[in-house]
Amino acid sequence: MSVVDLRSDTVTAPTPAMRAALASAEVGDDVFGDDPTVNRLEALAAEMMGKEAALFVPSGTMGNLAAVLAHCGRGDEVILGDQCHTFNYEAGGIAALGGVHPMPVRTTPDGRLPLEAIEAAIRTDNVHFPTTRLICLENTHNRCGGAVLDEPYTRAVGELAKRHGLKLHLDGARIFNAAASLGVPASRLAAPADSVTFCLSKALCAPVGSVLCGEQPYIGRARRIRKQLGGGMRQAGVLAAAGIVALETMVDRLPEDHRRARALAQGLGTIPGILVEDAAPPSNMVYIRLAPDTPLDEAGLQQALASQRIKIGPVGPRRIRFVLHYWVDDEGVERTVQAIRLAMVA
Ligand SMILES: *Cc1c(COP(=O)(O)O)cnc(C)c1O
Repeated sequence: MSVVDLRSDTVTAPTPAMRAALASAEVGDDVFGDDPTVNRLEALAAEMMGKEAALFVPSGTMGNLAAVLAHCGRGDEVILGDQCHTFNYEAGGIAALGGVHPMPVRTTPDGRLPLEAIEAAIRTDNVHFPTTRLICLENTHNRCGGAVLDEPYTRAVGELAKRHGLKLHLDGARIFNAAASLGVPASRLAAPADSVTFCLSKALCAPVGSVLCGEQPYIGRARRIRKQLGGGMRQAGVLAAAGIVALETMVDRLPEDHRRARALAQGLGTIPGILVEDAAPPSNMVYIRLAPDTPLDEAGLQQALASQRIKIGPVGPRRIRFVLHYWVDDEGVERTVQAIRLAMVA
């Protein structure tokens, strides 16, 4: 019986095509700009995001950190969502390493920051205040059930930013999921942003890596910051080769994961005691809550499923997140629904 791992789309091992590509990758010293495979990945990523240039980084966390540090100086402030990844899950790097002050704004359940709330958070010119420099959005929004930000909303935030002389960064760790959900090219969702990061290592299955995209001089600054952060890698072409396979072959299949997320949500919705947060999830994530009176709590259910070789990820008291990806097929979804149905009556 194979393992069904629904904890995250980061658990995705590389595909056989990626292993073949990285074994035969042409490489050079990327800190010298000499790695042809990294250069090819960066050119492809920039093109797909509709930006001038791109920078290959080891992780989404470093991508967002370099992105913010290339926009802001010490004492500058960034407006971001109180539920976003950068504010919650990046170890406070923008403040700890960059001296950049976060200004969190309440996120609505659809992953948005209301335009009025953003506007209200912008500082006036006053010697007491930090200087507002940047706005960050997240698409899809992880903590908001994989919520998708559409083009009109992103454009509206971009226009607001311009009006106030601010920059806009898009944490598009899963921007290709957002694009698949909306049926538009990712570049359209990135167009209003000055910079965008996305992960190769999530649903696209590459083993390591993210990419930061933006205009040429900005990416030049980010390249120096990546070096400062210790992210200048040498023969990184072995990693970039897998990233190229990811962009060329794994983007168009993402609707499959979304279809399976809806199937899983539907299946789980028929089980007494399970409250599915969104019966029609917008991308590749399903969040559930266990009703207050079920005998099993999230840890109990996790343990019961582990014995069936199914891995799930509790994200809070009686709350669980399931993430669909390349290595979970229809049978894995069915097995998961059946196993949870049995565990809940046991
Ligand atoms: C995963 C993720 C990141 C960070 O990526 P790592 O490669 O894990 O550092 C950033 N933002 C969002 C929204 C993510 O889901």
